Amino acid sequence: MGDIADDMATAQAVIARLQAVHSDIAVLQAEEMALMTALYHLRREQQLECGVAYLDAGESTATEIGIALKVSQRSADDLIELGLGLENRYPATREAFEEGHIDLARVRAISKVLTNASDDVLDKLESKVAAYAEKAEPARVRRNANRWIKEADPEGQAERRKAAEAERYVNITAADNGTTVLDAVLPAAGGQAVFERLREMALGQVCGKDPRTISQRRADALVALADGTGRLVCQCGRDDCPRAVVGEAPVARKALVQVGVSAETLAGLQDNPALLAGFGAIDADLARQIARHARFEIITESTSTANGAPTADGVEKADAVEKTDSAVELRYRPSARIARRARAIDGSCRAPGCQVPAAASDLDHQDRFDHGDPQAGGRTTEANLGARCRRHHRLKTLADNHRNGWQVIHHSDRRVEWRTPTGESAITTPEGPDYLFPATPVPPVTVGGVPDAEPLAAVLDPGVAVMDLTEIMMVYSTPGQRRAVRRGRSKM
Ligand SMILES: [Zn+2]
Ligand SMILES: [Zn+2]
Repeated sequence: MGDIADDMATAQAVIARLQAVHSDIAVLQAEEMALMTALYHLRREQQLECGVAYLDAGESTATEIGIALKVSQRSADDLIELGLGLENRYPATREAFEEGHIDLARVRAISKVLTNASDDVLDKLESKVAAYAEKAEPARVRRNANRWIKEADPEGQAERRKAAEAERYVNITAADNGTTVLDAVLPAAGGQAVFERLREMALGQVCGKDPRTISQRRADALVALADGTGRLVCQCGRDDCPRAVVGEAPVARKALVQVGVSAETLAGLQDNPALLAGFGAIDADLARQIARHARFEIITESTSTANGAPTADGVEKADAVEKTDSAVELRYRPSARIARRARAIDGSCRAPGCQVPAAASDLDHQDRFDHGDPQAGGRTTEANLGARCRRHHRLKTLADNHRNGWQVIHHSDRRVEWRTPTGESAITTPEGPDYLFPATPVPPVTVGGVPDAEPLAAVLDPGVAVMDLTEIMMVYSTPGQRRAVRRGRSKM
């Protein structure tokens, strides 16, 4: 051990270096952001010139950056937006960032707090806030800046509130281990009302012996408000629970989600993970829980491959199917069956880094459909249809028309290659098959030799589920079924 003076000197040197590195990182982050916005301006200009709509021009930049840096499109979008704010509205903040006096977290804080400030207020306060941020952490920057804004422009308060309220939203993001983060910005009174209601339900609808914490009950209450039951059911397990539901227990609405799961896993013979569309892997048990109230779509492995080559013993059947399908293939709109299958196989939008579920995506003809002469163009088949969200559908259409410098190439095995104008490329594979037809069976979890899966009578009883275990089931609710549920016709 060195003596105290030596330790002090070492620690001081470490802190000094830490400060220098932190500042250097900020300088580089500022440069990175500036490069992103420079690319954005370039692409936007090009796309406006070739007639892309004002609102959509430049939107492919985040995808392009995502491919080049292997970052999510969302984080590229976020940095571009922040960078545009620095360029247009926050010059002092931008300068402090470029010089390494403030870091990215403080840039975000400033941008957030000033986002609805009027130009007058910005003129008065932006440089003051930027200077203050050099000496304070993000939370204090926000608090003080908020106070200054109110002092500088008391009349603008109502307008700022309206502008802030206009940005209300509810969003969910996938989190780990089968959970999601649900976040929302609501008008203050509305948010308070939601929280108050959850608190009431958490305290009033279960007895003191309910095993859940208050936080857990509030979370369950939110789900109960949404799933149609409208109330918490006490989990104390006592017959004489004073808060027991009188009469019939409320029944939860069927899940409006799409889950891809292998038949073996659904039946509890395996515990392979399942695919929750737009989310990713969920565990077998959760998939079976969701499946209990679901509709099924059976997806077989043979027709899911690119060319759908029939197996020897399936030839006769396949011939019959082919005759009926050829008429369908020459129509632009896919049949409901083909659409469901193509979406089940793709899982989500096939652009790199895009999380939009296939159920919410367009089905795009990979080889272009020829409206004038359907025989000449790409067919409307499962193999020739791919899921694309709106943004990436536009990107692909521009690419096909040689308008944006991109190339989107479809390989016969359903891989899709996205080549950016600068020659960077990324290949995506469909998400569904790994889950629907797992190559590596995962044995079921057993407790004392007995499979831990709950009984699946409810799932396997209906006629639909009389199935060969080589066939695969796809939990799916179509838009039509969803509308039916909304109209209150819950017979599915
Ligand atoms: Zn109870
Ligand atoms: Zn997409």
